[in-house]
Order: sequence, then C-alpha cells, then structure tokens
Amino acid sequence: HTKETGRNGYTFFIPSMQLSANRQLRLLQDLRKAIARNELLLHYQPKFPAADAPATGAEALLRWQHPELGLLAPDVFIPIAERSGLILPIGDWVLDQACAQLRAWHDGGHSDWTMAVNLSPLQFASPALLDSVRSVLERHRIDPARLTLEITETTAMKDVEASLAILNDLTAMGVHIAIDDFGTGYSSLLYLKRMPATELKIDRAFVHDLERNDEDAAIVSSIIALGRTLQLQVVAEGVETQAQRDYLSELGCDQLQGYHLGRPMDAEEFLRKVG
Ligand code: C2E
Ligand code: MG
Ligand code: MG
Ligand code: MG
Repeated sequence: HTKETGRNGYTFFIPSMQLSANRQLRLLQDLRKAIARNELLLHYQPKFPAADAPATGAEALLRWQHPELGLLAPDVFIPIAERSGLILPIGDWVLDQACAQLRAWHDGGHSDWTMAVNLSPLQFASPALLDSVRSVLERHRIDPARLTLEITETTAMKDVEASLAILNDLTAMGVHIAIDDFGTGYSSLLYLKRMPATELKIDRAFVHDLERNDEDAAIVSSIIALGRTLQLQVVAEGVETQAQRDYLSELGCDQLQGYHLGRPMDAEEFLRKVG
C-alpha cells in the first residue's frame, strides 16, 4: 500500500507517474467531479523579506480533499490534471479562489499583501489565459500589481518566443511574473534578459545543503548576482533552518519562503499566525 500520512498532514502517495493505470484513471474520474463537489482547497504559504520584517503576502498552493484518500498534495494530481486538460478549469478555480481571498485580506486591513498563483504549462500556453486573468482581477477588484503569476523556468524556456509574447501581454496588464524553480531548467541568459519577469525563485534543491555544499552556495550567489544585474527580486524557497535563513540574507537574497518561516496553511490560520 502506498498511502501514508506525511509530516504536512497530507496523505502522501508515490508520484502519480508511478501509480498504476487503474489508480490514475480512478483519480482522473474523481478529479472531474472535484470542483463541483467542493473538494479543492488552497493553502497559503507566507513570503517574507530577508530582512526581519512582516510578511509581504502569500503563495497559493492547491490541495485536494479526496473523500476516501484524504488530503492530497498537488504532485499527486496536477500531472493527471495537466494530461487531461482538467488543469484549465482547475487553474481558473485557483485564480478565482486566490483573488477572492486576497480581496478579503485587503478588506480586512492587509491592503499591501500580494498573492502568488502557480500556472501550469498548459494554462500558460492557453489562449484563454489573458481573459481569465483580466476577468478575475476585475471580478475581485484586485490591483494587478498585487498578483504574481509563477511559471517554472522550464515552462518559460520551452518555447521562448511564444513565452515572451505571453509574458509581455501579462506584464502590460500590470501583473507580476515570477520564474519558479529557477536553476533546475536550462535558461538562456539572452532570453532571461528579455523576459519581463519581476522575480526569480531559487529552487529549494540549492537551499537544502547551502551551508555545507560550496557548489550550492556558489550557485545561489550567482543567481543572486544575476537577479541584481537583471533587476529581479530573488526569492529563496525551501528555507528550513535559521542557519539557511542567515546565510541567504548574508548573500543578499531579497525574500524567503520555507517551513522555517511559515508552512502552507489554510486562510484562517494564515491570518492568525501571519496577519
Ligand atoms: P512550487 O510552486 O515550487 O511550490 C513550493 C513547494 O514547496 C510547495 O509544495 C510547498 O509546500 C513546498 N515547500 C515550501 N516550503 C518548504 C520547505 O521549507 N521545505 C520543503 N521541503 N518544501 C517546502 P506543494 O504545495 O506540494 O506544491 C508542489 C508544486 O505543485 C508547486 O511547487 C507547484 O509547482 C505545484 N502547484 C501547487 N499549487 C498549484 C496550483 O494551484 N496550480 C498549479 N498549476 N501548480 C500548483
Ligand atoms: Mg511556486
Ligand atoms: Mg518552486
Ligand atoms: Mg516546484
């Protein structure tokens, strides 16, 4: 049996690619009904300036409360959603839910908080993306500059000319763009220079052994230097210890995210602990 309850309170499964075909089909059938049955939910992980200061906002992270299997992490079902195209309605649901939450936080007095939402490769390539983003911002009366869309480096660099066109349109609307999991893809610096991104998120693989591994430290320093040069905010993900936090601040990282500073949590807990 592959099921076990992990440290996050989610029920972990082996990655969906390793699930049997039967299991995947079953999950796909269940996922088709998940939005209507109200089984999807968002957790929010705070983002902090490296200098000891209050949170600047949150990243929305999708979960699925499966009626029998428990709380599922996105790695289990997002690949299935992506392959089936279900990620498009799910992605719209995430944008709507995240912006509704941001509106509630703004109305509650946290008017400077920002929200980051992850986009899948299919969503990013979808001709409907611009309209989806525009309409969700209008619906919830969100200042576009308070919304950051995160795309992975791999997605951004897959078809660079097409990506540049989409990113230019999004940026013209006023939303911010983060390049997620930076360092795990194959960025062309020439294209990175032309990308209208506002943020680089250093993949947590480079943060994990930062103080012990000279190569990781050198890579993190280089990304920070690159961010400086290109005038991008550099955010480290996966900060799990005070030592990593200190090191990253010393290296000049702008913002930090990680279990040490705050785990992903539901909106109510977020407001209680971070607000
Ligand atoms: P990501 O966008 O790079 O998100 C960061 C992941 O690292 C999250 O996993 C978060 O819970 C985890 N994390 C944060 N701090 C730490 C830490 O200190 N240590 C460790 N070990 N992990 C940490 P999560 O929530 O399981 O999400 C995994 C990935 O699923 C995300 O990676 C993102 O690519 C994708 N994802 C999540 N929500 C959505 C969504 O709404 N839409 C799409 N398309 N993808 C999503
Ligand atoms: Mg992300
Ligand atoms: Mg990431
Ligand atoms: Mg990731």
